[in-house]
Amino acid sequence: MSRIEKLAVWICRKLLRVEIKFLVAVLTEVLAGRRRDITIRDDFRRNHPHYRQFIVDPNPPRTAPPPPKPAVPSLDWRKLCADYEAKHGKPLRPVKRQATATVVPADHTCHHCGAPSSYLYFNDGKRRSQLRCKVCGCLCPVQRRLRQTKRAKHWCYYCDAALYRWKVQPDATLYKCGNDLCPAYLSALAQLSPAERKLRKQRPSQFSVRYIYREHHFRTDQLQLPSPQTTRVDLGRIHSPDNVVGLVLTFHISFALSSRMTARVLREVFQIPLSYQTVLNPPEADQAVASYLHRFNLAHKGPSDTLCAGDEVYIKINGQWAYTFLFIGAESHKITSYHVAPQRDTRNATIAMNEVARSAPNQHTTHLVFDGLGAYPAAVHFLNAQRRKNRLPPAFTFNQVFGLENLDDQSSQWRPFKQLIERLNRTYRFHTRSACGFDSLNGALVLTVLFVAYYNFLRPHSSLDGDVPVYLDQLYNIPTLQGRWCKLLDLALALPQAA
Ligand SMILES: [Zn+2]
Ligand SMILES: [Zn+2]
Repeated sequence: MSRIEKLAVWICRKLLRVEIKFLVAVLTEVLAGRRRDITIRDDFRRNHPHYRQFIVDPNPPRTAPPPPKPAVPSLDWRKLCADYEAKHGKPLRPVKRQATATVVPADHTCHHCGAPSSYLYFNDGKRRSQLRCKVCGCLCPVQRRLRQTKRAKHWCYYCDAALYRWKVQPDATLYKCGNDLCPAYLSALAQLSPAERKLRKQRPSQFSVRYIYREHHFRTDQLQLPSPQTTRVDLGRIHSPDNVVGLVLTFHISFALSSRMTARVLREVFQIPLSYQTVLNPPEADQAVASYLHRFNLAHKGPSDTLCAGDEVYIKINGQWAYTFLFIGAESHKITSYHVAPQRDTRNATIAMNEVARSAPNQHTTHLVFDGLGAYPAAVHFLNAQRRKNRLPPAFTFNQVFGLENLDDQSSQWRPFKQLIERLNRTYRFHTRSACGFDSLNGALVLTVLFVAYYNFLRPHSSLDGDVPVYLDQLYNIPTLQGRWCKLLDLALALPQAA
């Protein structure tokens, strides 16, 4: 029995005759196209998974041309000469040249039999690009390299062919391998389903089957990590003796209460009225301290781990999707980078990763684990290429974990690190209440900054035996959480302003 027949049996068992009649009437309307509120599932995507698929190859192109392959002659010119002599009763003489003929340079030999230059002559007149061998009779080119190789900057990782410039976009130049025998091309073709192969004949440009390298050219000013906007507030009021801001942050961030609930706890439990003092309203207090804590987070998070995992959390800002990039150290469990962005494109992934690279000790190479989003390998290629220009070791090596199930070795080996970042994402969602949405990008960044400060410096971690990821001497011996928040703010406010 097919799946659909089983569904029919199930419907008959569960529904009354009159309900089934109604269902049939609805389905008939849907099939006739009279129901705009119900759309039939489109199985185009399922049948054409490779259609308009954005792929970034994990392997960067080669940066130097492959060494020319030495020609291995398949014939032996000495044996051919001996055969000639045996047949004709006289030795085969070298090429007799006219006085005006161009002599073939001595370093040229026949690619087929190895005969020396004295047996070779130019076969194509004045062009002098092709040689004919008198011993075996075969032709061979004077230059073995292709002409386009001379101007090439990148060579295919898989087949060593020179990549040609395919497209120029505002922030990237795309290079492509045109070799029809390239293993990457042949394997991508083999993965297409029969339906996709048929469709590719009509729309070849919609299938990415060749090795492509995107050379991004971001300027330094495009890669600045954004900081929360400072609101002009009276910091003296924040610095109130009764730790009010500490209490606000404790309930609002650490215990993840909403602004309304935080205000209520302060009013009804501690008898602190917040309504008339705007600066002590939870969102106002957050904004006032976030820009200080952002600088403190970056200055005091310490060196990043040699292995980090990264991912982006979906958040909503005014009903639109946006993304918070988070990177966590696999050993220290601290957040090494965070970045809130409206798009999850290569530039934003680069900004987030650049912060990991900035804090890597002695510019060591960091190993990253992330999912199948194409922006991550593209960002790694960009940052590594920048390092290579300065003759430094690569900033990153990486592994990708694809999908929800382990379908390949790479995914099984690195899945635990993916789970580490997924746990962090859930913690982030809980503390920032990102599901409710933010009213601005700055509002999302403010809560992210406070969350990171809490996560790195204040939150005990079970896998660290209850320790915090980044230990600060100054917070030791302060018994209350609101006290530690206040001390953290003191330290952040004392940090010298950037020039
Ligand atoms: Zn030859
Ligand atoms: Zn290739």
